[in-house]
Amino acid sequence: MTKTLIENIDYVVTVDEAGSILRNVSILIVDGSITAIGTSAELAQQAEGAIKVDGRRKLLLPGLINLHTHLPMALLRGLSEDVDLQGFLKRVWAAEGAAMDPATAELGAKLGSLESLQAGSTTQLDMYFHHVDTHRGALAVGTRHVGGPTFFDFPGPDNHTWEQRLGFLESWPADLAALGGPQIPTSISPHGTYTVSQQHLTDLISVMKTWNNPLLTIHISENEPENIDVQTRFGKSPTQLLADAGGLTGEFPVVFGHGVWLSPEDRKLVKNAGAAVAHCPGSNLKLASGALNWMQWKADGVRVGVGTDGCSSSNDLDMWQAMRLAGLLARLTTGRADVTPAIDIIRGATIEGARALGMGDVIGSVEIGKRADLTLIDLDKAHLTPVHDVHALVVFAAGRGDVCDVFVDGEHVLRDGHSTRIDEAELLAKANERGAVAAAAADAS
Ligand SMILES: [Zn+2]
Repeated sequence: MTKTLIENIDYVVTVDEAGSILRNVSILIVDGSITAIGTSAELAQQAEGAIKVDGRRKLLLPGLINLHTHLPMALLRGLSEDVDLQGFLKRVWAAEGAAMDPATAELGAKLGSLESLQAGSTTQLDMYFHHVDTHRGALAVGTRHVGGPTFFDFPGPDNHTWEQRLGFLESWPADLAALGGPQIPTSISPHGTYTVSQQHLTDLISVMKTWNNPLLTIHISENEPENIDVQTRFGKSPTQLLADAGGLTGEFPVVFGHGVWLSPEDRKLVKNAGAAVAHCPGSNLKLASGALNWMQWKADGVRVGVGTDGCSSSNDLDMWQAMRLAGLLARLTTGRADVTPAIDIIRGATIEGARALGMGDVIGSVEIGKRADLTLIDLDKAHLTPVHDVHALVVFAAGRGDVCDVFVDGEHVLRDGHSTRIDEAELLAKANERGAVAAAAADAS
């Protein structure tokens, strides 16, 4: 039995149904689960023999859940600047074709996972090819990484045929079991409805539906040209196309990357399927893709989580920034300061993300019985002193530089800002080396 006691934490942002904030409590973690929350005196007996972590002058919240990203693209940060989505894809796909072999995808996943943990994000819904290598890389750093085979109709940057991709699909549940790691859904990532045909989507879905705990994630309606392209070619919206392929029946969780340009009819389909949208305001703003109307989506019954997108579009994996931008954007576009209370934004980045993954009972809040995916921030900072409104402090004042300790599945994977699993200097040196190869290819495209 492994026991850890995080002692005397100043503030715990639980993100439970009531949005409770606890003061001066300790949290006992036994074999990866939160088993008790109370004062250190109350927990003394149960905590006997536990490894102790000092929680004084710290704020603890559930690990942030990044609902849409492409981790290995951390190696491509800054290679495709000042262009729209379509211009971006041209340069990025050239860089990926030249540099992203399986070993490099694994390296990029390690880099992205380290950045994620250092930014307090414990779970990522990831989409990247060389999915086995990518998943292995993320697991090595210790994140709760949700990835799976990625699909394009065409060979794509990884240069695989459709038949080879179907092979990856068939073997994914067994590959995932062999890789191990924390509990996650068995996910697949068709890239988008403009890159995967309706028939191919139907074929993928018919296989994944037979799995235990499946999940589908796909880019949908990221910008207006995408909608126009799909509408022109197929006579329907991306959401309708996915629905016609059997992807919105409610039988399994579905997460849309972006979903900025969903029509009212699209939103009805999403709501009826219990599907979710990963709102990526940093990427949407930077690529000028549009402003998702969070309040309208919520009013229409669409579950909305928060994501960063990949580093090549939004340039970082900073969920604090994504939270803050989501809140500010909703206020700007509605002209109302009361539409996104900080607790709602935190819910989007934690429990709503967990529910979107079908894991609402497992992670996403600090409650007894949940797995211990926890982020601590150091409150001993000028910009975090004094504390008045705790939820507002988390969203509008704190940042990733304040993250000091992170637990995933009960394991202390980041201590004092550094990985307990890997040699960071060696990782960064290798990332610089492979990054140069990718840059040369992007420039030649
Ligand atoms: Zn994306």
